[in-house]
Amino acid sequence: MFEYHEPQSLAEVTSFLAAHGEAARVLAGGTDLLVQMRKGRHQPRHLLNIKTVPGLDQIVVTEHCVEIGAAVTLHDGEKFLSSHPEYGVLCQAMHSVASCQIRNRATLAGNVCNASPAADTVPALAVLGASVKVHGSRGDRLVPVERFFTGPGRTVLLTGEVVSAIVLPRINGGGRGVFLRKARRPSLDLATANVAVHGAGANYRIALGAVGPTVIRVREAERLLARQGLTAPSAAEAARIARQAARPITDVRGSEEYRLELVAALTERALLTLAGEVRA
Ligand SMILES: Cc1cc2nc3c(=O)[nH]c(=O)nc-3n(C[C@H](O)[C@H](O)[C@H](O)COP(=O)(O)OP(=O)(O)OC[C@H]3O[C@@H](n4cnc5c(N)ncnc54)[C@H](O)[C@@H]3O)c2cc1C
Repeated sequence: MFEYHEPQSLAEVTSFLAAHGEAARVLAGGTDLLVQMRKGRHQPRHLLNIKTVPGLDQIVVTEHCVEIGAAVTLHDGEKFLSSHPEYGVLCQAMHSVASCQIRNRATLAGNVCNASPAADTVPALAVLGASVKVHGSRGDRLVPVERFFTGPGRTVLLTGEVVSAIVLPRINGGGRGVFLRKARRPSLDLATANVAVHGAGANYRIALGAVGPTVIRVREAERLLARQGLTAPSAAEAARIARQAARPITDVRGSEEYRLELVAALTERALLTLAGEVRA
């Protein structure tokens, strides 16, 4: 049994969370949380539906960033980003999550806050240099997405804090990206491995998901691409480095060895696809 609440402001959310600690949980789309509650993994006494907080369903574009509110669904986020090709990697990642029914309820912030190592949007956010906007009693703080996670299902959020938005930096001079994933079936299953790559000018970024406790940026491969440019041989070498950087486990979705092969194959394919986009 739990009590359901419809807070009307972020201040109401944070003071309620601070007062009730572990007994209260934020509810966004509920596509992770309700499943976990049914399995007995969480048994909160209070659920706070942040979709009732005015303004959190907005996407705000400023000179420096794009702020995607915590109640923006994956569907609405994808629709907005589809006319911003520089954020294509995130658009593709959002589209790859589950099914259209789930994307119509699930939020981008919920995908991040759930902190699954296999979350599809997280590698895409990492290569875009995104940050998580955290609201607490002392105001807002911005946490780079790569530093938001402390382990599977764990984040840096403190008692009384809530995520109010995901913040994407504006990418001057364009940029293109590619997101690829492999799962046991095409949809409605978490990724066995996923890879996001992004290129802007001579700068390339690569991030891996589902092959470590948290998202992995492959900086050594990024430096190689910056030195050598993106060619077939450098893509193959970057894929080899990505394979070395991965720290997968064996579970129901795949063995450690299979995931290592996937990382190399997906990274090379993503980079070669990106090379085609950059030249087009
Ligand atoms: C059938 C099925 C298939 C799926 N397939 C995929 C898939 O392919 N890829 C993938 O990545 N995911 C998948 N998922 C997982 C899920 O849909 C996503 O993680 C979703 O984006 C979660 O968002 P939500 O709004 O539903 O979060 P919720 O379930 O509401 O919340 C998730 C967690 O985050 C916390 N939380 C939510 N918002 C905030 C906030 N603003 N501040 C602080 N804490 C917050 C909640 O308390 C909860 O602990 C699937 C789920 C199902 C049921």
